Amino acid sequence: MMKMPKQAKSIRKPRNPRPKEWLASDLSQQYIADYKPFNFVDGEGVRCSLYVSGCKFACPGCYNKAAQSFHYGTPYTQDLEDAIIKDLGQPYCQGLTLLGGEPFLNTQVCLRLVKRLREVYGRTKDVWSWSGYYWDELLKDSADKLELLSLIDILVDGRFELTKKDLTLQFRGSSNQRIIDVQKSLKTGQLVLWNRLLR
Ligand code: SF4
Repeated sequence: MMKMPKQAKSIRKPRNPRPKEWLASDLSQQYIADYKPFNFVDGEGVRCSLYVSGCKFACPGCYNKAAQSFHYGTPYTQDLEDAIIKDLGQPYCQGLTLLGGEPFLNTQVCLRLVKRLREVYGRTKDVWSWSGYYWDELLKDSADKLELLSLIDILVDGRFELTKKDLTLQFRGSSNQRIIDVQKSLKTGQLVLWNRLLR
């Protein structure tokens, strides 16, 4: 009998939700995986990073698999929020970064924090967010996601694709992801990339 060639192992793809299929109001437990003040890796400049818990994209090779659970970590608290707002007040701190987990499936926490940041610091601090959602998907999704988008400055969008992994990229793990200037994109109705993109 002829020996059959071995099948190439197929790599599972991340999940693709329909518009409004996944809602923070159904999923979020308002849990936090981590908070890292004053780091240099989650965007431009010195940043305070909040890692929210829970993500449904299930990307193979996810950099933070434990935080895919909506119950991972600890509840978001007023004390934590007060500490983040205080840390952001340091003159050398450029802004807040939201990542996870999926910030757009934890809009209760992220909206509350970003609104307070805007009340206290206006536009003197910027907000970056990572998301497994693509830009076009967010535009078609729920009102809370659109509200969060309207309040942030820079979005790194899209699932992590293992087959497109490239560790030389700025702030991204795979080449399908983009660094988007949110305010310019919303204003012009066209996707505008971050103007300090090098690679
Ligand atoms: S979107 Fe990000 S956090 Fe969610 S599974 Fe993919 S890599 Fe992990």
